[in-house]
Amino acid sequence: MQAPSLGGVQVPRGNGSTVVRLRHGASLNDFADKIDANPASLVTVLFHLGEMATATQSLDEDTFGTLAAELGYVIEMVSAEEEDRELLGTFDIDLQAEEAGESDEDLVARPPVVTVMGHVDHGKTKLLDAIRKSDVVAGEHGGITQHIGAYQITAEHEGVERAITFIDTPGHEAFTAMRARGAQVTDIAILVVAADDGVMPQTVEAVNHAQAAGVPIVVAVNKIDVEGANPAKVRQQLTEYNLVAEEYGGDTMFVDVAAKPGIGIDDLIEAVLLTADAALDLRANPSKDARGVAIEANLDKGRGSVATVLVQSGTLHVGDAIVAGTAHGRVRAMFDEHGNSVEAATPARPVQVLGLTSVPSAGDTFLVAPDDRTARQIAEKREAAERAATLAKRRKRISLEDFDTELKKGKVESLNLILKGDVSGAVEALEDALLKIDVGDEVQLRVIHRGVGAITQNDVNLATVDSAVIIGFNVKYGERVEELAEREGVDVKFYSVIYQAIEDVEAALKGMLKPEYEEVQLGTAEIRQVFRSSKFGNIAGSVVRSGTIRRNSKARVLRGGTVVGDNLSIESLRREKDDVTEVREGFECGIGLGSFNDITEGDIIETFEMREKPRD
Ligand code: GDP
Repeated sequence: MQAPSLGGVQVPRGNGSTVVRLRHGASLNDFADKIDANPASLVTVLFHLGEMATATQSLDEDTFGTLAAELGYVIEMVSAEEEDRELLGTFDIDLQAEEAGESDEDLVARPPVVTVMGHVDHGKTKLLDAIRKSDVVAGEHGGITQHIGAYQITAEHEGVERAITFIDTPGHEAFTAMRARGAQVTDIAILVVAADDGVMPQTVEAVNHAQAAGVPIVVAVNKIDVEGANPAKVRQQLTEYNLVAEEYGGDTMFVDVAAKPGIGIDDLIEAVLLTADAALDLRANPSKDARGVAIEANLDKGRGSVATVLVQSGTLHVGDAIVAGTAHGRVRAMFDEHGNSVEAATPARPVQVLGLTSVPSAGDTFLVAPDDRTARQIAEKREAAERAATLAKRRKRISLEDFDTELKKGKVESLNLILKGDVSGAVEALEDALLKIDVGDEVQLRVIHRGVGAITQNDVNLATVDSAVIIGFNVKYGERVEELAEREGVDVKFYSVIYQAIEDVEAALKGMLKPEYEEVQLGTAEIRQVFRSSKFGNIAGSVVRSGTIRRNSKARVLRGGTVVGDNLSIESLRREKDDVTEVREGFECGIGLGSFNDITEGDIIETFEMREKPRD
């Protein structure tokens, strides 16, 4: 149906409820495509609605909404997951259909993947160490020597050797970070609770995270060797969180352990396997192209991108074309946690992969593509989609200090942050802590990007388009990035203590971040002659030596370079007989400093004001 529209252009109209599905970061070209219109005519219509945009520019949902309403359409933005599914679909890859099509015979039992969570200092790291040492086949390999982000051990269970995979990043930061990306990696959570300390805030958080993800919990009651340890109390405390020990009639396995001396580790592993067998059907199809998740990744000077991936289904081979998030490449080599090279990795096996062209983020899903070209194209399309989605959110820059003002003006509704740190653990911990700040309903805190390493041009560009504040934790600017940040007006803050970053962000959110002031010199005057007045006190007959002397500005008096009077102000200022507000360089004037009378010929009066200092 063609109908005249704004600006006299012809645009096919919807019936008021015709749905048009658009990707984030779509342009008028994309919209025009969907409704079979000429992009130029949409530019015109939008113009008449008061917005200027080119046909190829990425637009936000609101702009599309306005345009669509005018033309009788309803906009539906496609979610990132759907978008990716559609993208893979164009390459004939349909992961859901692939899984649905797998029959019982295709599926083979796979090891459980376990994450260790719990309150700080309750012994998560020690427990992961103890479990690593318990590996029955470790001796053959000379033990687990490499930290690759995850490791697999073998344990004997009911006469059978069983493998278990452990995510080697203690704490729930990694767990949540991955879940936030839609990647469910963990099958079972080991909740570590120190028997001498009991249930603590992060214990409760860990329980919440695991329960929200529907992950069964095995409780490791740790430090039973410590005097004052009270394992029974831990059991009793946890009943409040629906974790009822088997001996109390519940279905949660509690195991008393001492990670440091290595007591009870075998029982704990046994409990993990029993829980897996009782509660979960852990099977996967090993006979297909590998699919999985990136657990950890970094850039190595000699080896390039090094990514630890967890294979979730299929088998990963050396030589496979692979795409992980927006990174792609060909698997050049794979290593296990013993540092041994591996030719093939089956489900639940973590391996270090060399050969990707860039570094994926923790939680990015990966898949093996039919060929290099497809892998590259998927990665490129994903990157373009990310970029477009970012560009669509173009907004004004913001700083932590003026966030509250902008918020009150209704100009912003969320504080967007980009977090950069020296190690991924710090970034995750920071993000986790920041997201826990209680900000109330009217404000939102969003971490739009996080990463490891120096602050890059990319970070600044992202901050520019998304009005974000960059927080650098133990990192510096990359080369030439500072100039860019300054030019673009992007607020970058550096911290080396996490709680200070948290305090500042919290203060910004609550509108309490006090600006810092610095002294800016306004002008100096030299005293030529002192006039004594009973009414006004001493008046300094002066000549302005530099800048401008202004009435009411702050002042101090210097004699031979030392301060003889401070915290003063220019109380009166005269040219000849007239009161004036300012006197410029080179002119003579009479200056009154209020009750301060200790002035003499040759003294310098320095005036200054306190200006808000840009924080760094
Ligand atoms: P995390 O913060 O949860 O990773 O805790 P760590 O594994 O770093 O342990 C915190 C502290 O508790 C360290 O000093 C450990 O040596 C100590 N610790 C951990 N497990 C035990 C244990 O079973 N017995 C005793 N006595 N100390 C332990």
